[in-house]
Amino acid sequence: MKSLLVKNGLVVTETAETVCDVLCEGEQIARIGKDLRPDGASAADIETIDASGKIVIPGGVDVHTHLNLDVGIAVASDDFFTGTVAAACGGTTTIVDHPAFGPAGCDLDHQIKKYHGFAEGKAVIDYSFHGVIQHVDDKVLTMMETLAEQGITSYKVYLTYGFKLSDADVFKVLRRAKELNLLITVHPENDGVINLLREEFRAAGKTGAEFHPLSRPAECEAEAINRMILFARMADNAPLYIVHLSNKLGLEFINAARIRGQKNLWAETCPQYLLLDDSRYKLPGHEGLKYIMCPPLRGKADKESLWQGLKADIDTVATDHCPFFFETKKMLGKDDFTKCPSGAPGIEERIPLMYGEGVVKKRISLRRFTDLCCANPARLFGLYPQKGVIAEGSDADMVIIDPDKTATMSKKLLHENVDYSAYEGIEVQGWPVYTISRGEVIAQNGEFCGRQGRGKFLKRGQVQRKR
Ligand code: MN
Repeated sequence: MKSLLVKNGLVVTETAETVCDVLCEGEQIARIGKDLRPDGASAADIETIDASGKIVIPGGVDVHTHLNLDVGIAVASDDFFTGTVAAACGGTTTIVDHPAFGPAGCDLDHQIKKYHGFAEGKAVIDYSFHGVIQHVDDKVLTMMETLAEQGITSYKVYLTYGFKLSDADVFKVLRRAKELNLLITVHPENDGVINLLREEFRAAGKTGAEFHPLSRPAECEAEAINRMILFARMADNAPLYIVHLSNKLGLEFINAARIRGQKNLWAETCPQYLLLDDSRYKLPGHEGLKYIMCPPLRGKADKESLWQGLKADIDTVATDHCPFFFETKKMLGKDDFTKCPSGAPGIEERIPLMYGEGVVKKRISLRRFTDLCCANPARLFGLYPQKGVIAEGSDADMVIIDPDKTATMSKKLLHENVDYSAYEGIEVQGWPVYTISRGEVIAQNGEFCGRQGRGKFLKRGQVQRKR
């Protein structure tokens, strides 16, 4: 069996941060301790990495990506090869992708089957999918259980866009999720007000990117978050996960619900909402289109409240990675922001940004950083302890960060299949220098060195985190 020995790094394990060795045998972590050496057969074929002065964290788990996403007017430019190569180079070893909507009335497994086709033979890291619920009937509710048996244990519902669910349908889904202990993730925005505002801005000729955030106010997001929270409460504390939280008012509703005693409520935010703000929409030329995403970037006070929230209230940091080329796709919105495909890249930037802007700048601890980016997403989405933790018996997924290496975020440095980075010019301290997936080094010093198609589908279990 092939072995890999990572020596003398500062290892973030389940319980401690200690300088020690990690011995991987085959695809799993065999031992963690001081002065390890492989014994017997494994000694013959061993690769050693000197991690002195470096930090060894669990491989990143990004539970919100959109590879191959077809939004009608455009298709996200990263597929399961290019997107996962970028992920690997940036220190992420597991993704859970949110599929696009399928044709109207399609079965619940329609998009899952399609996405298996997208990922097989392409992905270079391990992956799974959330299910997407775009209509509700008895067949859909029955298939939630069938698909859960195949490892699809979380579902996404939308409160806006073409396949938004009605209140009654959302409630049916939440009741069913409670019964089966499945996690419902929600894109929360108030559809009615947003569509009215968009139409009013267009009619008034207010079509620049700066009207995008004004057409989707924080109150629209917060209202929908609160609505979902109360529906989940009526469904006997059904497991609910708020994706891409962007604003302070929404966080206040989440905290208030927890104080009232609501269980099984979790929240995710993304680096863009922590590090960028709505001044980006006023950039000269058509630069503002690069930041058109839903929910939009918010004000500085929202950013600050999210950083505060990361200390305890927010559970995960994911990316909502959804890249479109600026020159050919985002520019579709140059005369009308409502024609711009919504989304931005970020799968490769997450770990370096959260380490550099979070840990180095002392906004979050090293432990909290790994909880937010690795352990919590793995726990919530049924992948723990196979993923998200450096522990004996876990998959040997690790990232070695060089805390002394600095880098300037730039398209030139990154591997995403897109022509810009939303974080261009941000200098970060600390950079992933090795990415290890199931005992194999798949990226080193910013270059991918793995094999196309090596990633495996992960059959996920149920939510394993209490709150
Ligand atoms: Mn998304």
